[in-house]
Amino acid sequence: MSLESVFCQGGPLRRVFSHYEPRQAQTTMAQAVEDALEAGGVLLAEAGTGTGKTLAYLVPALLCGRTVVISTGTRNLQDQIYFKDLSQLLTALEVDASVAYLKGQENYVCRRRLAQLAHTGRALAHPAHRIEELLSWSKRTHSGDRMELPQLADDDALWQEVCSTKDTRIGAKCPFHSECFVTLARQRASRARIVVVNHHLYFADLSTRLKGGTLLPKHSAAVFDEAHLIEDIATEFFSVAVSSSKIWHLAQDALASVRCAALSIDPYENTRPKLADAVRSAAQDLFFNLGAKEAGRVDFDPTGLSREEIERYHRLDSALEALQHSLLAIEGQDEAVDHAAHRCDDLRRDLASLLGRPPKDYVPWLETRARSVVVGMSPIDVSGMLRDGVFFNLPTVVLVSATLSTAGDFTYLKSRLGLDFPTQDLSLPSPFDYSRQARLFLPTDLPDPRDSTFMDAAAHWTAQLAQLTLGGALVLCTSIRGMQGMYERLAQCAPFPLLLQGQAPKSVLIDRFMQDTTSILCATSSFWQGVDLPGHALRLVVIDKLPFAFPGDPLTSARIAALNESGRGAFHAYQLPQAALQLKQGFGRLIRTARDRGIVAILDRRLLTMSYAKLFLRSLPPCPATTDFAELKQWWLECEKSVTPQNGEPAD
Ligand code: SF4
Repeated sequence: MSLESVFCQGGPLRRVFSHYEPRQAQTTMAQAVEDALEAGGVLLAEAGTGTGKTLAYLVPALLCGRTVVISTGTRNLQDQIYFKDLSQLLTALEVDASVAYLKGQENYVCRRRLAQLAHTGRALAHPAHRIEELLSWSKRTHSGDRMELPQLADDDALWQEVCSTKDTRIGAKCPFHSECFVTLARQRASRARIVVVNHHLYFADLSTRLKGGTLLPKHSAAVFDEAHLIEDIATEFFSVAVSSSKIWHLAQDALASVRCAALSIDPYENTRPKLADAVRSAAQDLFFNLGAKEAGRVDFDPTGLSREEIERYHRLDSALEALQHSLLAIEGQDEAVDHAAHRCDDLRRDLASLLGRPPKDYVPWLETRARSVVVGMSPIDVSGMLRDGVFFNLPTVVLVSATLSTAGDFTYLKSRLGLDFPTQDLSLPSPFDYSRQARLFLPTDLPDPRDSTFMDAAAHWTAQLAQLTLGGALVLCTSIRGMQGMYERLAQCAPFPLLLQGQAPKSVLIDRFMQDTTSILCATSSFWQGVDLPGHALRLVVIDKLPFAFPGDPLTSARIAALNESGRGAFHAYQLPQAALQLKQGFGRLIRTARDRGIVAILDRRLLTMSYAKLFLRSLPPCPATTDFAELKQWWLECEKSVTPQNGEPAD
């Protein structure tokens, strides 16, 4: 079957995708992916919103006959590809290809941990009916995937205690191994020709492979969608980190494993709870004294620890050693107990490396979270690891995203990912008509964003713009402080329902926003990308500042220093293109379909005054810009006239 025959007007796609229309950019991209799968090499395919990029790589992947791993940046996209796009494509193309999906193991319930929880006193810490529900679901489900439990919050405490994790998974010697959901999912993936994973799992596999293991089946090609996220996710997986909650869970798991093992000879039976308590309190003492008052990640100098801090560390190390010995002293073989003892050892080793002199290419950091403190170190540069582990290791790699280049130039992404060899580069514009569908508004009377009066003026403009669009606004801020400041001020001056990131899980906030189309959602970080709000619900995106990465972040500042030292000039090689790509992502939230209309307002006057502003503006979709509010208002009122009152959608 040729690509032309698939992507044509009367082709098979129309049978399953009722709104399918051929798009030149989609066919061009599909052809490039097919060529890359045949000839090998690395293809960078930047495709604007609305190109139909998912089908453009899935069709050639299905038709090529090779084992291909499709990796996505988010679980949402992974679910959509596997459960919707792939299953419909298999029907449309009538190809006989085995497909499977595999997620990070913390997405699957661990039968051993669940049984353990149900049989120990820990279960009392959770409502009995919730444990009952989980137990009965675990007997019914075929996948064991938390996706089947939509009511679970991202950080649900009960789920943390019963999911499979890298630390708690025993593997082949586990009594539940043959019916284990992780084992079964991996077996299905090992037999499939198309395996859909996410970047977290892909890089977990890469870091496992460096230690001699593997999580993914052997494959000869990989397609990374949302490829702009690769550097951050790879950095996370090549980092070493220990948190206070990780130690707390270890102490708890150790006790639970022993209780469930029903051992005959246990010399530490009566004292072990005290040993576990000693671990917990020593961890509390060390970590919470290191932690800062405010949440966030800061520099950490392990070589500058005070005498008290070193003593606290030694107390924790001794407590872990004592717990480990108490587990090893148990007679008889029990894998869960053995595993807990090994975890004590791993933690002691990680702590010793984190609190010693860091390797030259790593930057140490300390992160204070709502309920825990984390000590970690991250590689400053992952380009070598990616080049050797991914790009030189696979015959074909395809990188796909709506944001890979700044104004058509791929230099930044290539330098960050280690692509210092010839690649195929493709940049396909969005099919949307931005000149008709959108306006970029740049007010001229705002103070500099570093000025103390900026926040008041920014909130004033946001309220005025929201009055024009009657809500339906997503306010993207570059910091949590900025987001809260904006929210508090809007509460005073904007007569619309307000939503704030963090008030509820992301999916709940998005549902509320879509339901009440007059609302204003104030957000930061994760809402800049991967948020899809098509239709009339979103008509205004306000961006408070140019999204330069916070230079006080230890990793960002180490990367800036490394580039400046190498003579490459961090501002132009790193900070500027990174911010331009982030702005492009934020802008991309507005127009999601050919029927959407709306305004993007950027409240940072540097876009009007600084010479580097050109790169930001040239990287955005070709959308008319104005600094004149009266002109903007007139355009918007004209747009509104074309909206049908029945469904709130533009009438074209
Ligand atoms: S093999 Fe691992 S994940 Fe599976 S049930 Fe056993 S401990 Fe849990």
